[in-house]
Amino acid sequence: MFENLSERLSGVFDRLTKQGALSEEDVKTALREVRVALLEADVSLPVVRKFVKDVQAKATGQAVTKSVTPGQQVVKIVHDELVEVLKGEGDPGALKIDNPPAPILMVGLQGSGKTTTTAKIAKRLTEREGKKVLMASLDVNRPAAMEQLQILGNQVGVDTLPIVKGETPVQIAKRARTQASLGGYDVYFLDTAGRLHIDQELIQQAADVRDVVEPRETLLVVDGLTGQVAVEVAEEFDDKIGVSGVALTRMDGDGRGGAALSMRAVTGKPIRFVGTGEKVDALEEFDPERIAGRILGMGDIVSLVEKAQETLEAEQAERMLKRLQKGQFNMNDLKSQLEQMLKMGGMEGLMGMMPGMGKMKGQMAEAGMDDTVLKRQIALINSMTKKERANPQILQASRKKRIAAGAGLEVSELNKLLKQHRQMSDMMKKLGKKGGRNALKQALG
Ligand code: GDP
Repeated sequence: MFENLSERLSGVFDRLTKQGALSEEDVKTALREVRVALLEADVSLPVVRKFVKDVQAKATGQAVTKSVTPGQQVVKIVHDELVEVLKGEGDPGALKIDNPPAPILMVGLQGSGKTTTTAKIAKRLTEREGKKVLMASLDVNRPAAMEQLQILGNQVGVDTLPIVKGETPVQIAKRARTQASLGGYDVYFLDTAGRLHIDQELIQQAADVRDVVEPRETLLVVDGLTGQVAVEVAEEFDDKIGVSGVALTRMDGDGRGGAALSMRAVTGKPIRFVGTGEKVDALEEFDPERIAGRILGMGDIVSLVEKAQETLEAEQAERMLKRLQKGQFNMNDLKSQLEQMLKMGGMEGLMGMMPGMGKMKGQMAEAGMDDTVLKRQIALINSMTKKERANPQILQASRKKRIAAGAGLEVSELNKLLKQHRQMSDMMKKLGKKGGRNALKQALG
């Protein structure tokens, strides 16, 4: 199925080979295929519609990387946007479990993998974080479910609350809380009852338990293969009980996991864990990159565009190197240096890597050169004409005034920038003569 899709896409892309900025038509054509891909991955229709519309607006007018087709460029933009939407905040697998014993409520439909996932997370907390964990099943209607948790507990080496017949879920939850406190547990999991469909009684039970124990986390377990259903389940549980995170199971199968995107887009809840098999170790922290690749099913195109971008950057660097060797260090070069510094964490980061820059680094620190300064300097260069950037020596008083005014800054700042440019230019020349190409290459990081 994927091959067909890729082929179909290649067909579209072959027809779109012009360069430049993405036109509305380019984006529309490519997004038609993306739309199909998302629907095939089981992303729900309203989510697909909104997503495609957002990307349409964002992508139109963006530059196309050399040697890449507009269609391929759109796929890369779609991929990046998918990752953005899927990303939650912070570390996905980090549960709020300070203040022991921390109750964690597990909710979800029967068969979603709730009990298995409870044991998987408990195992992880025990082994990786050295936590003392207790698990309790609240499924009073299904003795088999209670026993299943006990068996899993034995298997993963995590304690379970002894089963007492005839108790209500709230009574079991209270007993779990007491035992967790007395036994010095860090965390206790409450594995609520599941049903095949959401019903009032199920929700009420979970809500009652929630009110009694006030869980630190309420994790919803959903079957990643159920697409639209997963979204409805998530909305309902979040609405009635309140959910702090989602665990998506069965991501080891053939499904492409579109539910992840739907759920994130509709409920805004972070996906914390991904279940990747029946074994108790088959649990991963949610990785937006990986899921995005899977949903889109166009990993080859995404990496192709990334490669092209890298190559282009390398070519640009090579061109700059050649010019520097010839002693041609103009304002455009300075600008790209400044931009790179910004990207690499400011002045400190870059200067530290340049041989012979130690002294300058000190001076710059003294002069209070930080990111704000970098940004101002870039603004000054932006305010120069093409000719001025190529030949900064032509800058006389009137030009300087105009440039500074254009950037909303003082001429004195421009003078500082020009001085810095001269110093760097001299140094580049010296480096070019002394050590030749390698020294320069090193100096450029
Ligand atoms: P519950 O009714 O929600 O508690 O579901 P269970 O934990 O009993 O799981 C139902 C079935 O799904 C069991 O056979 C599990 O082994 C299986 N299962 C759970 N998680 C996963 C998963 O991530 N991948 C696969 N392939 N199977 C899973």
